[in-house]
Amino acid sequence: MSTLARKPPGLDDPSGRRGAQGDTGMGKRGIGKGWRWLAVVLLAPWVCLAQPVAPLSIDATESHVPLGAHTRYLHDGGGIASVEQARRALAEGRFVPLPNGDASFGFQTGAFWFHARVVNHNPDEQRWLLVQQYALSDRIDIYLRYPDGREVHHAGGDTFPFEQRSIRYRHPNFWVDLPAGTPVDLLVRVQSQSSMQVPLFLYTPAAFAELSRDGQLSIGLYYGILLALFFYNLVLWLVLRDGSYFWYLFHISAFGLVLFTLNGLGFEYLWPHSTWLADKGVPLSVCLAQIGMQQFARTFLNLRKRWRTGDRISRAIIAFFVVLGIAATQLPYHIATPLAAAAVFPSIAWIVAVTLVVVRSGYTPAKVFLLAWGMFLLGTAVYVALAFGLLPKTFLTEYGVQIGSALEMLLLSVALGYRYAALRNENERIVRSAKNELEQKVELRTAELRQTMAQLESAHQRLHEFSRHDGLTDLYNRTHFREAFEHLLSQARNSRRPISLLMIDLDHFKRINDAYGHLVGDDCLRLTSNTMAETLQPYDALLARFGGEEFIAALPGMGLEQASAVAEELRQALRAQPCRSGELEISVSASIGVHCVDLEARNSLESALQVADQALYAAKAEGRDCVRTL
Ligand code: GH3
Ligand code: MG
Ligand code: MG
Repeated sequence: MSTLARKPPGLDDPSGRRGAQGDTGMGKRGIGKGWRWLAVVLLAPWVCLAQPVAPLSIDATESHVPLGAHTRYLHDGGGIASVEQARRALAEGRFVPLPNGDASFGFQTGAFWFHARVVNHNPDEQRWLLVQQYALSDRIDIYLRYPDGREVHHAGGDTFPFEQRSIRYRHPNFWVDLPAGTPVDLLVRVQSQSSMQVPLFLYTPAAFAELSRDGQLSIGLYYGILLALFFYNLVLWLVLRDGSYFWYLFHISAFGLVLFTLNGLGFEYLWPHSTWLADKGVPLSVCLAQIGMQQFARTFLNLRKRWRTGDRISRAIIAFFVVLGIAATQLPYHIATPLAAAAVFPSIAWIVAVTLVVVRSGYTPAKVFLLAWGMFLLGTAVYVALAFGLLPKTFLTEYGVQIGSALEMLLLSVALGYRYAALRNENERIVRSAKNELEQKVELRTAELRQTMAQLESAHQRLHEFSRHDGLTDLYNRTHFREAFEHLLSQARNSRRPISLLMIDLDHFKRINDAYGHLVGDDCLRLTSNTMAETLQPYDALLARFGGEEFIAALPGMGLEQASAVAEELRQALRAQPCRSGELEISVSASIGVHCVDLEARNSLESALQVADQALYAAKAEGRDCVRTL
């Protein structure tokens, strides 16, 4: 199959000078042949030895026959030889056998002539289909010569509209009459800008039907998978609007188009009337596929964020394929296609390299991505191994490229899903941690707020306490006494128990001030307050400073008599407790008016205060330091 070192014989030069073009082995080729160039790139070419060629004898049991082993060929480097000149060269023995029966020569100039003598021994099958199992040859001429001198000529290839083919099939084909027992000379001329590949086969109509059916099934399966993946991911793209999905769709479409074109299906179904597209389809679709692959890899791996230099190189590769794609519309096929094909390997190798870098950076979805490309390369390697006879020909090896690429697309789709799930998890994690952080902040703020509230509450409490107390003596003040007394009054009314008032005024206090100064007076006020509080405490008395050196006490549950007794006790306590201020010891006395509150009176407090005050007045009047009632 590889022809790098092969020297075909020339029409003008029987030694067999090669055409001017370099042979990469890649050309417009069928899906079965499409990836043979990989073999050329990977493995060393071999030299095939010519062997003697016998006429092809078809017996009654055969239904499909390869012509390769029975074919001789000649290279017409100028492509100008007529059929007569070719026949003369054949007669002169300048045609040589195909090396190993394989008619693959890579990119060549001029035309190639092939000759086989066919004798059909099957009287039931006299009409056969000659098929060139390679889709992309430009022009094929078939010359049949019968013993009776009859000559028949057919022409085909993709420079002719598709409908001119004998059978609407992706490979060029021609009906040939092979009368039983009659030797027929078959001369085939092929000229093409694409790779020179001429694998000729003869089929009975029934055998051809079976062949095309099997072929269509595999192709149908392959494109069925691609189509399902396409629509599945199209829906995901429409829903998620994630750029990766778009580029996946682009990649899968462009890659599908490459194989479609190489199969000859593009010419058959997409552009049957455009020989221009039949010519440019391969390089254009290869460039598109590479742009799609690179762009998909960039977005999937988020290269811009993860590896800036790698991203720049990927963009440069994309730019290269854009330029090459545009140039391919103008460049001749035999230049554009090998260039595009040669760039495919480094391009895919680059994707594998960047994926490895991203995998090593810890991005797990890239592992599935790497596996997908691994499948693709494995499928291709298996196919190459088959081509070199290293693996037996089975369904798996023969369709290695298709199976590998189908698995690749499938795994890429899985990788997309995996990546989406990873993104979603990451987002959820971010939202969760943001929520936690927020909750912590709220908790912190709430605690601070609670603390502030508590401080405020205690400040309020203190303020409240402060507002209820007298600053000098720390006894309740007059305002609080009024409020608290109303409360005691209603309790007394409810429980029908008495309540009495003591109005207490220190005697001749002015004299103390005058004699010792106000500060000493203040000390005396404080000390007498303490004595009063201590004395009245056992009686649950409500004691307050009423103003100046005047105090008031309410005695709940006490009638006039009891209250008078308590007042007397208080008076004596004050008398017995001289005030100490510095070195001084000052005796203080008090006059006390006692009154039992009339619970039925409308304005109980005011009237009770009045009466208690009058009783005090009486005590003052009767000489002070005594207790009086009215
Ligand atoms: P009486 O026996 O008639 O009550 O004579 P008194 O001097 O106590 O009565 P008066 O009403 O004439 O004088 C009360 C004095 O109490 C006048 C004032 O200087 C003194 N006083 C009132 N409040 C304070 C105070 O907060 N501190 C001091 N140091 N003295 C006060
Ligand atoms: Mg007084
Ligand atoms: Mg007074």
